[in-house]
Amino acid sequence: SFGGVDLVKHFAVIGDPIAHSLSPVMHNAGYKALNLAADYQKFQVSPEDLGEAVLGLKALGFSGWNVTVPHKETILPFLDELTEEAVRAGAVNTVKVDKGRLIGHNTDGSGFVRSLQEHMELDERQQIVILGAGGAAKGIAMALAPFQAQLCIMNRTPERGAELVGKVLEWGGQAHQEEWGRGAWLVQADCVIQTTSIGLKKEEYPFSLAGIRPGTLVVDIIFNPWETPFLHSAKAMGCKTVNGIDMLLYQGVNAWEFWLEDKAPVESMRKALYQALAV
Ligand code: NDP
Repeated sequence: SFGGVDLVKHFAVIGDPIAHSLSPVMHNAGYKALNLAADYQKFQVSPEDLGEAVLGLKALGFSGWNVTVPHKETILPFLDELTEEAVRAGAVNTVKVDKGRLIGHNTDGSGFVRSLQEHMELDERQQIVILGAGGAAKGIAMALAPFQAQLCIMNRTPERGAELVGKVLEWGGQAHQEEWGRGAWLVQADCVIQTTSIGLKKEEYPFSLAGIRPGTLVVDIIFNPWETPFLHSAKAMGCKTVNGIDMLLYQGVNAWEFWLEDKAPVESMRKALYQALAV
């Protein structure tokens, strides 16, 4: 409280493009649900302006902000400190201003893990196939590494897949790579996580899920379209399917809890997201 008036806390997300971001809807609904004096905005920041934007947000008294494509790695040099999650991911999606210091954190991987744990146990007995080895796959694989699940990575460009396998091993996790599109691995899988951008334009997957066991948990981190052709065919094969909306939700929930050091109103945030997507 300042002179009897509550100080409003300001939060934001920066990225390029940013218009599509649902983070303001989700966070503002949460503030409203708890009657908190806080607001959350979105700002378009081009790569060449990133350093000035960071200084600007700090000077304007923002308490924290999310960082999205293409700034998740390039923001690192502008920060004072990184959490273990940010170091492990090599990327930052959440910044907190703490007594004038900028702390970089990452909730993409932990958010994904939190959403996955609503559907399965995570331990060394689980075989998890990750399709793709881009930024999202890296965040997910590095957050799964400490659970010691067996990660099987498949990527169109094998060099990138091998790099990710190496990183998981380096951090004490279990991982190997299989050839993109070869089906034998599917029979073993307890969970398949689709992290490529295939399906965003409703296109068919380049290979079939033939051989997958009914009941296997199949996750596609895309949520728009709500059900990609990949998820649709997994469902037709008797798999349990989950899209990427809860990954978005829980990265936001975990960012909230990092900033405000208190439980986030998960159901209000979820409801706002679903409403914004009109599902
Ligand atoms: P990147 O550009 O870092 O990686 C893209 C990945 O997709 C690479 O593995 C790439 O393979 C693969 N890929 C792309 N096109 C093809 C194709 N035609 N055939 C085979 N492989 C292909 O992107 P991100 O990892 O940042 O994002 C990937 C997806 O995840 C996006 O759709 C994004 O919207 C979604 N996402 C969802 C989130 C959520 O909260 N639900 C969070 C973050 C991302 P290669 O290495 O061979 O190029």
